[in-house]
Amino acid sequence: NAPLSEVDPEIAEVLDRELTRQQTFLEMIASENFVPVSVLQSQGSVLTNKYAEGYPGRRYYGGCEEVDVAESLAIERAKSLFGAEFANVQPHSGASANAAVLHAIARPGDTLLGLSLDQGGHLTHGMKINFSGRLYDIVAYGVDPETSTIDMAEVRRLAIEHKPKVIIAGWSAYPRTMDFAAFRAIADEVGALLWVDMAHFAGLVAAGLHPNPVPHAHVVSSTVHKTIGGPRSGFILTNDADLAKKINTAVFPGQQGGPLMHVIAAKATAFKLAATPEFKERQERVLRGAKLIAERLSQQDVKDAGIAVRSGGTDVHLVLVDLRDAEIDGKQAEDLLHDIHITVNRNAVPNDPRPPMVTSGLRIGTPALATRGFGDTEFTEVADIIALALLPGADVESLRARVDALAAAFPLYPDLQQ
Ligand code: PLP
Repeated sequence: NAPLSEVDPEIAEVLDRELTRQQTFLEMIASENFVPVSVLQSQGSVLTNKYAEGYPGRRYYGGCEEVDVAESLAIERAKSLFGAEFANVQPHSGASANAAVLHAIARPGDTLLGLSLDQGGHLTHGMKINFSGRLYDIVAYGVDPETSTIDMAEVRRLAIEHKPKVIIAGWSAYPRTMDFAAFRAIADEVGALLWVDMAHFAGLVAAGLHPNPVPHAHVVSSTVHKTIGGPRSGFILTNDADLAKKINTAVFPGQQGGPLMHVIAAKATAFKLAATPEFKERQERVLRGAKLIAERLSQQDVKDAGIAVRSGGTDVHLVLVDLRDAEIDGKQAEDLLHDIHITVNRNAVPNDPRPPMVTSGLRIGTPALATRGFGDTEFTEVADIIALALLPGADVESLRARVDALAAAFPLYPDLQQ
């Protein structure tokens, strides 16, 4: 039982260098966050040793007394946080949760109607080479090219024309709230099931700062590691008892074997924390930060450089930047921001003239920096730094110095020993 640094110094060094990277860069990838040390503790615990196929009280292995407690806590806390009758907390990831949802509510060959990948949807909502695109017949809706928002009349038209089995609402890159009641009305009109994938905005829902899809959808899936800021994993909610049974069977034994009990325990802790006033206050900073960035990137100097904020602003934790008319492309912008120690990801915009590895967009998110402690003052400063970085002739050295000062003022994991 020698320590990692002795057993495997190469991996120990990766852990050390990654900690340093996270501490010195400003993390603005919209899907990332920093888990609290309490969550790291569960994930690095002896629960990783335990097989627990089945569900609490109904396992296929002995010795499950303690992990049953952990999973029951995670289930009860998830239900209470989102106001759901039923929760399955076993999916290993968001993609596994989504595979289980489709396994439970559709059959291969059924038609699904979801937001297309290049307009902000997720791979599991019907991308051609993803399991969803291979097993199901996909019809995609998009965003209005003028407003960058979803046109519900178009969703309804496609639903009436194609009679999908499932309508998917949810996104990976969309800066506005969706009208879940309107989606449900369309689903009811055409006899479809409504599945909402709230992976990105679940933390905002938990804080009461975003409409809750649970009362409207037949099924809701999510990740735990984005706005919630918990361990990398997924979960599924429903208020329908029949669907609940199908979902349990679809997750195990339909899709997965043994659940990751160390991760499920960490989910329980993340859900507990998400019910606190501190969590709500943090999500308020997330939203204000995104608005401050959208406002700065809408000012005249940025507009003059051909840079636009898609949909003209944001209701959520991210801002989508349109670089179609700018000198700088998505890849160059991502690289330049990396150079000044800000991490973001490039993102295709609808009808992107540039190839997918280059793109004409950026996705900028605020959850991780809010977790780090950033408030209005710091987000105003970050917004200005990003704006100046994207303008032609950016002074890289001075912008990097401003970023480094912010990172130093908000230390991340100051006491963590890897
Ligand atoms: N659903 C949505 C909307 C997502 O944005 C993502 C991840 O980016 C996922 C599902 C998949 O989550 P995971 O990466 O944990 O499989």
